[in-house]
Amino acid sequence: MNIRFLAFLALSIGALGACDEPVDDDSTLGEGTPEPIAEGQPASGVEPFDGLAGFYPVEQCDAILSRTERLVLRADTSSLTEGERGAVIKLMQVGVIFGRLYENANHSDALRVGEYLETYEPGDEAERTHLSALRDLYAMFKGPVPWNLDGDRDLLAPIAPYDARRNIHPAGIDADGVRAFAAAHPEAGDLLGTRTLIRVRTAEALARDRSALEDHPTIGVLNPGLASILEGGPDPEAYYAVPYALAHADALLEANGLLNEASALVRGDDADLADYLEQRARDLLTNDYEAGDAAWVSGRPQRLNALVGAYETYDDDLLSVKAAYAVSILVKSASGSAELEAAIAELQQFEDALPGGPYQRVRSQIPVGIYQIHADYGQARGGNTATILPNEPHITQRYGRTILIRENILRNPTIVARGQARFRAAIVPDQAEDLAESGNFDRTVWHEVGHYLGPKATADGRNIDEALTDLQNHFEELKADLVSLWMMPRLEALGVLTEERVRSAYAAGVLRTLRTVEPQRTNPYGTMNLMQNNYFLEHGLLSFDAEAGKLRIDYEAYPGVVERMLAEVIAIQQGGDRGAAAAFVERYGAWDEGIQGVVGRALDAAGARYTFVRYAALGHE
Ligand SMILES: [Zn+2]
Repeated sequence: MNIRFLAFLALSIGALGACDEPVDDDSTLGEGTPEPIAEGQPASGVEPFDGLAGFYPVEQCDAILSRTERLVLRADTSSLTEGERGAVIKLMQVGVIFGRLYENANHSDALRVGEYLETYEPGDEAERTHLSALRDLYAMFKGPVPWNLDGDRDLLAPIAPYDARRNIHPAGIDADGVRAFAAAHPEAGDLLGTRTLIRVRTAEALARDRSALEDHPTIGVLNPGLASILEGGPDPEAYYAVPYALAHADALLEANGLLNEASALVRGDDADLADYLEQRARDLLTNDYEAGDAAWVSGRPQRLNALVGAYETYDDDLLSVKAAYAVSILVKSASGSAELEAAIAELQQFEDALPGGPYQRVRSQIPVGIYQIHADYGQARGGNTATILPNEPHITQRYGRTILIRENILRNPTIVARGQARFRAAIVPDQAEDLAESGNFDRTVWHEVGHYLGPKATADGRNIDEALTDLQNHFEELKADLVSLWMMPRLEALGVLTEERVRSAYAAGVLRTLRTVEPQRTNPYGTMNLMQNNYFLEHGLLSFDAEAGKLRIDYEAYPGVVERMLAEVIAIQQGGDRGAAAAFVERYGAWDEGIQGVVGRALDAAGARYTFVRYAALGHE
């Protein structure tokens, strides 16, 4: 799971993902351009673009860009060894490959639009300005489907409209139909798997997959069930699943080679990192991340770390099950995490004290690292503040999870100042200075730890994710937010945080619930932010001063209200009843123009709406 700082802004967009980026990356790396990834269904009867006709008008580009703040992330890599620097270059090349897979998954025309914008020669000055704006938007939104200022999706180019299936699922399929088919047809493969694609069983699809398997016999050996899934005739009423390892075989084989090279380069300096990269190289082909995840979570990388793979399912708007590709290259931060590890050693006592707890035995050693981001690609690109991985329950139960705190985002002066400006705009004057620099950092760190606590299965033993289906991310993130706030007084009692830092984290907890515009229900972060806001208002943690148009925080009521909402959220996770979950979302997810609308307008006036995250390592300025 990851948190975006953008989640407390109006729109939960990722930032960046550039059409110009492969070129920048390559010039930075001094290596050849990677082969284009020929996968996804090539659109038939594609009309070639005509200049910039039908592209997003320059006024609309400007409307977004004038509300956008750019920031460039830099990591100090002076601590890295020569081998580690070499590995960074290999990882950046894997990042370019995964970035393209990611864009392609978001829209069937994404790569075509990206390449067109990259190579198009503007005819005059007006076109040059327009083109530059389009390139920025493509980069910010990691594809041709930007969110506009109203929180709706637009199109950068004359292409097919946004569809919840994106370029992940076949045209025409619906969520209930696939779920029912999957339940009745285990022989069709892991249709709802994290790293499989769903195919309609047409002659054409079968022929393409059989041919890919013939071209890549290694994938067949490493995915033993695959050949039998592809046997037999077509049936346009039926589905089957193919692993990413086959669907993206060319790209993943290339990434496999690069990761093995990276592993060899760091072998002498950091054996744990080398083992992880080597296992992950193999995971991409076996389509099973257990080996790499085990090495990643149990190892202790010394200076360099990397997230490499497809983990997060936020981009699958239809089923919330298919993982999106990402690479993050992270350099250990100088600021220590000893204080954090000492507090984490006490985690069982927090679990025991949870409403209705304990639900499980918690590990006393959880790898938490504080990092500087060097570069991100694909799903990870943009304003992620922290990450906890892996996600799959059968893996996390065996090995635990690793927490990656992104310090150069969380402590970025521009971002901190913007958060404070938004807080001031929304909160009554005598509390308006309560949000200190540490607030969101502490809140975020303990949000990540919060993912470790609470029930991992329903009371009757089912997987919570499967029980709550498309609402699983809403509730998991809601729980983590609330656990973080719930822990604050306990962390103060343990001497981990001072009273001032707790107050500031509480202030950050309120800021987190504020949204500029009404979020879409499919957006887990936006929806659960709004739900907390409404719950806090209903139970007196917050009150709205209609005359001033501002919110007041009741710090006395804070711990009790948080615990009460946490108890309700945990009960819903334990109950595993999607209907009850949906009713809770319905009850607290309503947008009141008289409150949230008023506050939203004040927030909007307080600062930029979007953030365009760039990376010094990629030559961005
Ligand atoms: Zn989270």
